[in-house]
Amino acid sequence: MSPVSLPGVIRGVRERNESAWLLPNDGSRTNHRLRVDMRQFADSDEIDLVIVGCGAGGSVLLQRLARAGWRVAALDAGPFWDPDRDWVSDEAGSHHLYWTEPRVITGTDPVPMGSNNSGRGVGGSMVHYAGYTPRFHPSDFMTSTADGVGADWPFRYPELRPYYEQLEQELPVAGESWPWGDPHGYPYRPHPVGGNGEIFLRGARQAGIAARVGPVAITNGRFGNRPHCIYRGFCLQGCKVNAKASPLITHVPDALAHGAEVRPDAMVTRVAIDSQTGRALGVHYVRDGKERFQRAAMVAVAGYSIETPRLLLNSACDRFPDGVGNDFDQVGRYLMVQGAPQTAGRFDAEVRMYKAPPPEVSSEQFYETDPGQDYRRGFSIQTVSPLPITWAEHVAAQGHWGGALREYMSDYVHWATLGALCEFLPLPGNRVTLAGEKDRHGLPVASFSYSQCDNDRALARAAQSVMEDILHAAGADEVITIQRYAHLVGGARMAADERHGVVDRWCRSFAVPNLYITDGSVLPTQGAANPALTIMAVAARAADHLAAGARSGSSQ
Ligand SMILES: Cc1cc2nc3c(=O)[nH]c(=O)nc-3n(C[C@H](O)[C@H](O)[C@H](O)COP(=O)(O)OP(=O)(O)OC[C@H]3O[C@@H](n4cnc5c(N)ncnc54)[C@H](O)[C@@H]3O)c2cc1C
Ligand code: SF4
Repeated sequence: MSPVSLPGVIRGVRERNESAWLLPNDGSRTNHRLRVDMRQFADSDEIDLVIVGCGAGGSVLLQRLARAGWRVAALDAGPFWDPDRDWVSDEAGSHHLYWTEPRVITGTDPVPMGSNNSGRGVGGSMVHYAGYTPRFHPSDFMTSTADGVGADWPFRYPELRPYYEQLEQELPVAGESWPWGDPHGYPYRPHPVGGNGEIFLRGARQAGIAARVGPVAITNGRFGNRPHCIYRGFCLQGCKVNAKASPLITHVPDALAHGAEVRPDAMVTRVAIDSQTGRALGVHYVRDGKERFQRAAMVAVAGYSIETPRLLLNSACDRFPDGVGNDFDQVGRYLMVQGAPQTAGRFDAEVRMYKAPPPEVSSEQFYETDPGQDYRRGFSIQTVSPLPITWAEHVAAQGHWGGALREYMSDYVHWATLGALCEFLPLPGNRVTLAGEKDRHGLPVASFSYSQCDNDRALARAAQSVMEDILHAAGADEVITIQRYAHLVGGARMAADERHGVVDRWCRSFAVPNLYITDGSVLPTQGAANPALTIMAVAARAADHLAAGARSGSSQ
């Protein structure tokens, strides 16, 4: 645990990111003044940096560089959300939070797109993510060297540690002292847990498995003008309370206060490349039905793992006929999803798993490679607590329909649900290419091909078995498991050289010196941890490098 006191931590956070204090303190959730007064650049201004996508990676970069005095704008295809106006505590009413533009899915194990792995609008997918914020383990940065599978990152864990620490304070993260990976503490104490969390803790104890409360980016106590969580369980619908962290409230307000522009409803269609110099000139985008062009000295793409490679491929030009930065056929490859089997157990007593945030308790006991097993790498286990529509999907995926489905639905309050995150391996054939089909802007849509390998399947089986053991040990009389996926990373990975990846250790394109990629697509491996904190930390590290380089004149 850090020796720094909580008031000291809060003072430190406020000095480098004032977002939580810039939110209103009157019961409303949006600082409208900040948005009205926001700086607005003209398309013809050559700004220092234009960022494509204002999600986890894009908004951290925006905030850091605005603080460093850069003239910077983030263009996002979706709206500038106002939680009071746009969000409801209702599953069915929250579908507008997802990226539902068409995509083609192929491969032997195709990945369904939509609510489970996409977001749109300012704040990105973190607007409706669950809120788990674990760190990656040191081993995740060197799986090829340590385990002979996956890939090594071009840097190691200790280089990211300071950024993890910063972001855990800025979100802020609450949880028990963490014994796994690089053991560490959290700035905020763990939340009290609900019925599902209690069952996980009890079952794990009985089964001899270590589990801990957290880590979640949900306020436990007041933080700036953000109130305490009220435990109503709508985290995956966009937290209307402002208790769950997303860049919309953790980084965008401070960015605006420091002169950044956020341009919503702006769909970027191409990165423009100078055919003579090979440098990026800015981005073409569509807004209000009009085609526009934002000039910039530098471009950063942060559109999430499917849209980022798609944009690079759609930006093919004289210099890059196969897509920007794709001279070595790396763009779109090594896209990863985590295997996410979900196991539910029925208990005679009422559980009421909806009465708490879905992210409560997790275990990373099985995260690392176990030499005694016939698979490499591992998995984590977490509470997931589906609301009724997602619960119906779970039951229907088991093959129950009609009367049986109705029975499971009316029994909802008796069920507890756990989910695993299995580290499926990065494979070159799991990739995004362009489909023949076009979207409403006339742009080829992404085609995402995905197939599992034997190691992936073995991991999912092992995770299912452990979750079923935990729920049985807790006293479940019936247990049902479904197979599913979670999260998307990779597709424009960082590597030591351009034959193995798209960007270098600082997220800078090998091929275009003033093009950066700062979202989840740069991750070479995914671990068995939820990715958002790592994506933000990687973006914060790239931002520090850019800001330092700009001072010394070397980054461009
Ligand atoms: C249901 C769900 C639950 C999740 N739960 C967790 C969790 O508990 N913990 C965790 O760590 N992670 C979780 N995640 C994953 C996490 O939210 C993402 O990994 C993370 O937000 C990805 O960050 P990013 O910067 O790559 O992209 P995003 O945050 O998705 O941001 C991309 C942004 O780019 C915009 N964009 C895309 N293309 C364009 C374009 N051409 N022009 C302009 N804008 C564009 C999009 O509108 C979007 O706002 C969850 C995700 C989902 C969907
Ligand atoms: S449970 Fe807490 S974090 Fe989740 S939506 Fe409700 S107030 Fe927000």
